Amino acid sequence: MTTTETIAPPKVTDKKMLIDGKWVEAASGKTFETVNPTTGDVICRVAEGDKADVDKAVAAARKALESKAWRNMAPAERGRLLYKLADLIEKNARELAALETLDNGKPIRDSLGGDVPGTAAVYRYFAGWADKIHGKVLPVAGPFHTYTRHEPVGVCGQIIPWNFPMMMQAHKWAPALACGCTSVLKPAEQTPLTALRIAELAMEAGFPEGVINVITGFGETAGAAIAAHGDVDKVTFTGSTAVGKAIMKASAETNLKRVTLELGGKSPNIIFADADADTAAKFAYFGCFFNMGQCCCAGTRLFVEDKIHDQVLENVTQRAKKTKIGDPFDHATTQGPQVSQEQFDRIMGYIGAGQKEGARCVTGGKRVDRPGYFVEPTIFDNVKDEMTIAREEIFGPVLSVLRFSDVDEAIRRGNNTMYGLAASVWTKDFAKAQRVAAGLRAGTVWINCYNVFDSSAPFGGFKMSGMGRELGEYALASYTEVKTVVTAIG
Ligand code: NAP
Ligand code: MG
Repeated sequence: MTTTETIAPPKVTDKKMLIDGKWVEAASGKTFETVNPTTGDVICRVAEGDKADVDKAVAAARKALESKAWRNMAPAERGRLLYKLADLIEKNARELAALETLDNGKPIRDSLGGDVPGTAAVYRYFAGWADKIHGKVLPVAGPFHTYTRHEPVGVCGQIIPWNFPMMMQAHKWAPALACGCTSVLKPAEQTPLTALRIAELAMEAGFPEGVINVITGFGETAGAAIAAHGDVDKVTFTGSTAVGKAIMKASAETNLKRVTLELGGKSPNIIFADADADTAAKFAYFGCFFNMGQCCCAGTRLFVEDKIHDQVLENVTQRAKKTKIGDPFDHATTQGPQVSQEQFDRIMGYIGAGQKEGARCVTGGKRVDRPGYFVEPTIFDNVKDEMTIAREEIFGPVLSVLRFSDVDEAIRRGNNTMYGLAASVWTKDFAKAQRVAAGLRAGTVWINCYNVFDSSAPFGGFKMSGMGRELGEYALASYTEVKTVVTAIG
C-alpha cells in the first residue's frame, strides 16, 4: 500500500476501554494522557484500568470462553470472523496508519506500507488455521481407541509493547482467537490508540461479547494484575526482559499459568569480507535503524571483517548522514521521534556511556534540535565486547561497529550475550553461511538479508530473549492444551 497522498494527524477524542462488549470508563474513574512523541503534546485521555477492571475483564473472558456462542462456534466461522477483521483493517488502512503514526511517531510510509498490511496478513494467516487445528489418533497397545484433542488453553492475558502496537496485537489476538481462546489485552500506556480502534473493528466483524477485552492502563497496576490473576490460564508478553521475569514469577506464585515471552535482544550482524559489502552495509543500516532502532531484533552489534571494515563503516555513516529525520506524517521522512521522553533519556544515557567508555562516535550522538523526542542516528566505531553499548539493549538509533577476523571468532563473539533473538550473516560462501547459522544461538538467523518476516515463519528467542514462538504453525502450541482421550473398546 503505497501512496503519497497527504495524511493529516487525526483528531482523537478521549477513549474508554472494552470489557464484555461494552466501552467503559475505569472503575476508579481515573484516566491518563497519551502523548504525541513528535511534539510532546497530549493527544487525548484514556481510561486508566487497574486490578478492579482486570477482574471484570477476566470474568467476561471466562464467561465468553464457556458460552455457547464461542465454544460451539464452528471453527471455520471463527476463521471467517478473523478474515472479516483483516478486511476491515484494510478498509480503514489510512485511519489506522495515521493513528499509529500519531501515537508512536513512526513514519507514515512505514505504518501505511508495513504495519497495516502486516497486521491484516497476520489475521488472515491465522484465520486459515482456525479449522485446521486437530489432534491425532494414536497406536497405543491394547484394546483402546486413543486420540488427542487440541483444546483452547483458555483465558489469555496478553500484554504488548509500544514499538509495533498493531502488529503486536495481531501476534497475540490472531492465534488466540483462531484456537478458540478469549483475551484480556493490555496495550502499552504509550500507544493505546490502535489497539482500541482494532477492538472496535473486531466487534464490528462480529466477535461475541467478552471474547476480546482491552484494558488500557499501566504495567505496574493493570499489567501486574493480569500476570497475577488466578483465573487467567495463559499470559503472553512482549517487552523488556526485566518485566518478562516479573511476569513469570507472578505466574509461578499464583496458578502456574502458561507463559510465553518475547523479550529483548542484542542481535549480531556479521559481515564477512567476501560479502557484497555495499548491499550488506545498506541492510546493516536498515537492520539497526528501522523503526528508530525500536526493534527487539535490531542488529545493534555490527561485526565487520577487518578487510572491509573501513568501506562498511563509511557506507553506514553516509546513510546516517542522509537519513530524512522529521515530521513522520511527511511521506519522505524515514526517521521519526523515539516513542517517549523516558526512552529518549535512556538512549541519550547509553550514548553518553559509549563516549565515556572509549568508543568512537563517528556520527550523531545528539538530540535533533526540534520539539519531540528525536535522536540523531548514531554510529560508534572501536566498540569492545565488554562495553555497555555492546551488551545492553538500547532500543534507539545507535549502532556499535566491532571488528573480527575469522569465522570461529565471529560465532563466539556473536554469541557473547545473554540474548538470542536474531542474527544475520553476510557472505557469498554457502558453507560458511550455514556453519555460522548453525553456530549462532538465536531464534532467527538471516543469511544475506535482514528483517524478513512472514506470518508463517516462527519468531522468538533463545536464552533471555524469551520462551515460546509466535507466528507460524508453532504459535498454535502456545494457545492449545493437548488432551488425551482413551476409550476401552475390547
Ligand atoms: P516494558 O516495561 O517491558 O513494557 C512492555 C509492556 O509491559 C507494557 O504494556 C507495560 O506497561 C507492561 N508492563 C510493565 N511493567 C509490568 C509489570 N510489572 N507487569 C505486567 N506488565 C508490565 O517496556 P518499556 O518500559 O516500555 O521499555 C523499556 C525497555 O524494554 C526498552 O528500552 C526496550 O529495551 C525493551 N522493550 C522491548 C520490546 C520488545 O519488542 N522486545 C518492546 C518494548 C520495550 P506500561 O505501558 O505501563 O509500560
Ligand atoms: Mg513501561
